[in-house]
This record gives sequence, C-alpha cells and structure tokens, in this order.
Amino acid sequence: MDMDLLLISPPYWDFYSPFLALPSLSGFLRSKGFAVRQLDLNIVHFNRMIDKQGDAILKELQNDHVYDGLDTAYKNVFKANDAKEFTRKSAFIQPGQLSGQFLKKNFYQFTLDEINFLDGIFHYIYFNQLYKKNYWDKLAEFELDSIMEEVSSELLTDTLLGNECMTLIQQGLRLIGFSSTSFDQFIVSCIYARMIKRIHPEVKIIFGGSYIPVLVKTVRPDKQKKIFDLCDYIVNGEGETALELIIQYTSKGQGELADIPNLCFMDSSGQVVHNAAKFENFQQLPEPDFNDLDFELYLMPEIMLPYQSSRGCFWGHCTFCDHDANYRYNFRSKTAETVVENLAALKKKYNNQHIQFVDEAIKPEKLKEIVAEMEARELNSLDWMYYSRISGEYTDDLVQRARALGCRLVLFGVETFNLRLIKMIRKGISEKNISKNLSMFSKFGIKNIIWMICGFPSQREEEIWYDIDKLKENSPNLKGVFAGLYRLERNCDMYSAPGKFNIIDSDPDNPYIFKSHYNGELIDQNQIFSLYKQEYAPLVSELSRSHNRYIIYFRQEEQDEPLERGLSK
Ligand code: SF4
Repeated sequence: MDMDLLLISPPYWDFYSPFLALPSLSGFLRSKGFAVRQLDLNIVHFNRMIDKQGDAILKELQNDHVYDGLDTAYKNVFKANDAKEFTRKSAFIQPGQLSGQFLKKNFYQFTLDEINFLDGIFHYIYFNQLYKKNYWDKLAEFELDSIMEEVSSELLTDTLLGNECMTLIQQGLRLIGFSSTSFDQFIVSCIYARMIKRIHPEVKIIFGGSYIPVLVKTVRPDKQKKIFDLCDYIVNGEGETALELIIQYTSKGQGELADIPNLCFMDSSGQVVHNAAKFENFQQLPEPDFNDLDFELYLMPEIMLPYQSSRGCFWGHCTFCDHDANYRYNFRSKTAETVVENLAALKKKYNNQHIQFVDEAIKPEKLKEIVAEMEARELNSLDWMYYSRISGEYTDDLVQRARALGCRLVLFGVETFNLRLIKMIRKGISEKNISKNLSMFSKFGIKNIIWMICGFPSQREEEIWYDIDKLKENSPNLKGVFAGLYRLERNCDMYSAPGKFNIIDSDPDNPYIFKSHYNGELIDQNQIFSLYKQEYAPLVSELSRSHNRYIIYFRQEEQDEPLERGLSK
C-alpha cells in the first residue's frame, strides 16, 4: 500500500514519554483508512546526542570556566557550587556510560540524587545548545536563514537523513507533515523541510502543531508568503479533518483547498489564504495510535502513554495563560464511558502500565465520572497521573477512590497564595482550598506537584515572602514545586491589556523584562530577580524531590510505595 502521509515530530522536546500529537492524528487518519507513518525524530535525536556527545559534554562541564558560566537553575539541580564539586559528584558516571541504552536500563536504579543529576546532564546536553537569542524581529520578517544556519549541525541533519524518511520518499511518499510545539521544534522543521525540498522538490510539506498560531500571529501579513518557500500547507489549528482533506486533495485531486478547515495556503495569484477555523467533534475521535513508536527509546522505565480526555480548558480565564485563545475557549470533553473505553483499548493493544492524562486540567466532577466508570468496568490495572485545578469540590471519598484505581500523582497550577494576585490573574482559587487539596491528596498517598510563578506584574517583595512562607507551610504535602520567574508572553491577556495589570512598559524581545507598579510605586525588578535567585529558587529546590515530574512519579521512596489498592490488580 502506498504511504499517504509521513508525520514527523522534530527535535527538541520531551525525552521521557511520547508526545500525543502524532499518535492522535495517526489514530484518526488510520481509522479513515489512510496509510500513515509517524516518526518521532525528537527521541531518535536525543539518543544519538547522548551516545555521541554525552561523555565529551560531561567532561566539558568539569572545566571551571564552563561550569562557572552555567545557569543557576543547572547549578541548583547539580547541587554543586563549582566545577570541582561537580566533578566529585559526577564520579558515579563511568566513562562510556552516558549512552541512551545504558541509561534506559539503569536510570531508575541510581539514587534519587544521582537520577536528578543525570536528568540535569541530559537537559544540558539536549537543550543547552538551543537558539537563545531574541528571534521575534526575525520571525516577524520571516528571516530565519541565519537562525537555521546556527541551529543546524551534522548530527541534526543526519538524524533526518539516516532515517527511513528518505527511503519512504524513494518509495513514492509525496506528503510529509511536521508538528511543532515550540520555536525550537519549528526551526528544526524549517531545516528539515528545506533539506527535503532541495533533494525532492516534488514532496509536499505541511507545517502544523500548537506552535503554528504563534507563528501566524507573529509573521507580518506581507511576509507570510515567505513561509511557503519551505512548505506547501500550514495547518493552523486542529489537524484531523485538515489532514484528511489535504491527503484527498494531493493524492486524488478531490476537493478544493479553499474548503479545507484550518488550512493556510498560497493561492494561484500568490495570495496567502487563511481558511475558517474548525474544532473537531472530540467525542468522536478514536483513541491515539502509538504503533510506530519505539517505546525503548524513551526514558520511562515502564510504558507510559499520554492520553487526553478533553481539549481546550474548562476554566480558560487565567490572564497569564499563553495558550491560543481559540483552543483555550473551545472546551470539549469525551464522556467518561468513552475515556475508559479508550484506556482499556490502549491497555489491550500496548500493555502499558501507566497513563499520563495531558488535559489542561481535569475537573473534580469529571474525575468522579471517570473513577466511577473505571470501577464499573474494573479497569484497575493502570497507574496514572493527571493535571487538575485547585477546587473545593474534591472530597475524601473521590480522592481515596482515585488512589485505589492507580492515581499516583496530581499536578496543580497554584501560581501564588496571595489573594490580591490570585484575583489579578483570574485563577479562581482560594488559599484555603490549596492547602485543603494538598493535604487531602497527600493523606491518601497521591503525590502533589504544584506550579508557582514569582514576579507577577505589580507583585511586591512582601508578597513574594508570603508565598515563600506558604510554600514552607505546605511542604509536608508537596513532592515537587515547579517554579519560575513570570514571563510576559505575547499570547496572554496581560500582554494585550498591560494597563489593566499595572504594566507600564515591556521589552518586546525579552518576556522577563517589564516595568510595573503597585499603587503608583514602581516595582524594582532587579530586587525581585535577586529575591528569586537568593531565596525563592533555592527553597523550591529544597522542597522538591526532583524538577522532573516523571522522576517524582516513577521513583518510589519508602513512604511513596503504592498503597494497597481497593481493587485487586
Ligand atoms: S493557565 Fe491552565 S487553567 Fe488557566 S486558562 Fe490556561 S490552561 Fe486553563
């Protein structure tokens, strides 16, 4: 059977578990009878980098000059003040051990400190060479050649060339889609698309993924034509129906480009056309299809599959949220029956032990329905983690039943404990419920991770100290605090209406830099940065078993051993 479409997830992204976009699209297109292949070049590239550069980069970090220049975040993970201490701490890694396969087998057998140390090394090896300069102006003009040159390397291009992509093209493949979730992935998509187009101009390229709305908003309308030097079609939004119709159009000449939802293309007169948006009937989409993925390449000790029970966000109001508004406000959820049916089907097909719900947040009411359905169908052989919102609706009964059915970890976006700021960011939570939820989940053996943000516009030092105190107070119920300095992102409400949030000025090229006031008094951002660096970040490190949710999830400490399940496993 001829291949209709090859979907590629390019570097650089998560290396612990597969990303859901490609399996979701593959599941849908295969259910329609199309021949689709998915390639996670991100995980392939990660393994190649560790194998080929791991030892050399580890050695490089043992050099005073390199170590001194490291970002504080890395130093906090390595828990080493200088290169000498780093070298001593890295002695547990034998020469030649930094290989993807070795680590895959042994990673979780190291001590927790060693695992976190290794995780820091991986992040450094994989992400430290990403493009870190301001790129907004270049992106607005779509002048990306120099960035592509800087990011490109022999290793990166060989990841594409050494893969089955080129063989498939020689066998007749004519349509390739790249899915990007970040600028880093998008720039690699551009590099790969250009390589393919130079060798095989007959191949049509599609750019898609959650980064596309940012791209389309940022590139000036009169410069958008230039994107089509690298690709033929852009899918700006959900891709299921769009890809189905693009395949029909390109392979069978059926339909019109103008009728394909979420499509952006250049018409015969050279004009860039943006078609109307469409949101899929999410309930009717089949479960994801992970068939082509090699689970052995990911750093998960047992198979953990990502799964989405909803798209969009049921809350949707946070003023700092930079998710595309179209996506955020179009909340759709599958019924609990369908969710559990999908989970059972995945389990049967892949024998996975774990599920990671990657919904923006599952509300307690929905969790209750899912738990009841799992109980009814006796689906009790999975362990799982999920994202939620702090809520007064959680009850002991629900949390205990969720734990009995395998819930090991929950992630809450708390951001701040301060009521004034909670109102400003329209988080819709209360300090009382934060503490209540954390102690409730912890009591029943579910690990809590919370996200925190430091340095919101108008946030005063005393308000940061308040959060520090509250973090300490809640620390017995926390396994991880993932925190960072506030970034004024372009897609969020605060950026669109700065005056409403006391923002006086901002640097369009650096989201960390802005001026804000509280009751007319200018906030000293340098003081905020220094408080974050000296007090907030070290505390967060101290309170967290790890900076990585997978490590917190998988690595069991004595008191983290799973409780007896309510149902037999
Ligand atoms: S930050 Fe999270 S909870 Fe808030 S609107 Fe965005 S996705 Fe929803």
